[in-house]
Amino acid sequence: MIRLSSYVQDQWVEGTGEHSVLVNPSTEEALAETSTAGIDMAAAITHARDVGGPALRAMTFAQRGELLKQMANALHEHREELLDIAERNNGGTRGDAKFDVDGATGTLASYARLGEKLGDQTLLVDGKVTRLSRARFVAHHVRMPRPGVAVHINAFNFPAWGTFEKVAVAILAGMPVVSKPATATAWLAWRMSQIIIEAGILPAGAYTFICGSAGDMLDHLGAHDTLAFTGSADTGGFLRSKDAFTKGSAPVNIEADSLNAAVFGPKADPGSDLWYLAVRNIVKDMTQKTGQKCTAVRRIIVPEAWADALCEAISEDLSRVVVGNTADKDVTMGPVATAAQLTDVREGIDRLAEQTTIVCGGSAPITGQSAPDGKGFYVAPTLLRAESADAAPDVHKHEVFGPCATVIPYSGDADEAARIVAMGGGSLVSATYTDDRKWLGQFLVGAAPWNGRVLACTAKVADESLPPGMVLPNCLHGGPGRAGGGEELGGLRGLEFYTQRVAIQGDSGVLGKVLGIPAE
Ligand code: NAP
Repeated sequence: MIRLSSYVQDQWVEGTGEHSVLVNPSTEEALAETSTAGIDMAAAITHARDVGGPALRAMTFAQRGELLKQMANALHEHREELLDIAERNNGGTRGDAKFDVDGATGTLASYARLGEKLGDQTLLVDGKVTRLSRARFVAHHVRMPRPGVAVHINAFNFPAWGTFEKVAVAILAGMPVVSKPATATAWLAWRMSQIIIEAGILPAGAYTFICGSAGDMLDHLGAHDTLAFTGSADTGGFLRSKDAFTKGSAPVNIEADSLNAAVFGPKADPGSDLWYLAVRNIVKDMTQKTGQKCTAVRRIIVPEAWADALCEAISEDLSRVVVGNTADKDVTMGPVATAAQLTDVREGIDRLAEQTTIVCGGSAPITGQSAPDGKGFYVAPTLLRAESADAAPDVHKHEVFGPCATVIPYSGDADEAARIVAMGGGSLVSATYTDDRKWLGQFLVGAAPWNGRVLACTAKVADESLPPGMVLPNCLHGGPGRAGGGEELGGLRGLEFYTQRVAIQGDSGVLGKVLGIPAE
């Protein structure tokens, strides 16, 4: 069994005391152990802030972008090894592992290109100069890197992407990172951290890795330190209540639960291109990473007349899913990541099933193909059907973080569809399938503000549109309300969180020179 360590004050250190054990969810074999007991979190934060911060702030965007490029290259060189670790510790298929690992290197590479484009600047100019007098007195709004530390706390489902999509944005903005993965699947993030540290890419203090419990880390944050958290709404709510955020006004970004929707509008009839696209996307979302994707569809909103056909089409595809040990290459869906996750998913299915009908699957224990007897955290892909949106209130309240979604029939009216989407209280993404522009326009007015992203699939883009579950570095990721109210990524927009906007007033000539802003 491997013993994982943390990277603190530019050294690898092992925690003491009792260690948490990481297992292979396909077999329950113990793989690694880790602890952060005894690590001085205050010293870790101070070192990152005082040593890593100045080093990164002294660099231009182009130079910081170059660091990201080198990180992406170093990780890519170890791709096969990383995919093996992902398969073993996260329980997904090879495809799931690629989604996570390639998503991490792809996001680093994307932000590296943005850095190159921003070039030799060290700050971001925010809009045009504001003239405050008839002569030389002006204001420039600029965004400066925050002189603090960027703390990242990640969820178990994307140990690679979750870690490095956040790292990419913070480092490019000029902030040192303290990154903490979820303990149960930390092996992959640990190995990736080891690779970038061994490659000697980052300046001293720029990267700290806490492999296990966060301990009292958040009690040491100051005004310019930031927290970007991904995980459950409950943990997010608890962390948000810490003094650093409520009293100290330190910025916090939360990516939490989300009851994402797929909505069928007019002209997406059974058998049409849009219909098949929707069914493909829905089945992919339900089974990719065993449904443990923050962007996976949970609610499928369909005109009443098509509901039977849709249940049939989805359940037929799900019946071909082979659930089991992902070491067996015939397996197309792995287990969920942990024993606790299995319990949560089963209980969640039971809870929703009280207000819905089970079309296929269910919470009953199943045996995974090629899994050791009685071992592994397996659950059947499960489709539920509600009578109506209002007849199943829990479907809009409770996220089953696994391969489970609910079909919800509705009238076909755009306002009604938007109302049902909004019942989720705020989501990361909704997808619509319709070729009716009037319907789409009306739906977007009601539904778009309840989402961080909306994918509007029409027939002409059916071949080129990406699945809704795919988060892209150049599009906003986050969502209002229940989804946490966060905003990550989105190209340049992602840097806002890690920079302080300042209005600097003065002599246009002096400021232009001092700040390096060319005259307009
Ligand atoms: P979780 O239990 O809330 O844990 C998330 C992270 O918080 C883990 O790293 C965990 O560390 C840490 N944590 C827990 N208690 C803490 C505390 N008191 N102080 C500091 N850190 C603490 O969530 P999860 O089960 O890993 O993730 C599943 C959830 O994440 C789902 O609900 C899903 O919707 C959401 N998610 C959202 C997004 C998004 O982008 N919006 C993406 C992925 C997942 P330990 O592991 O060490 O306990």
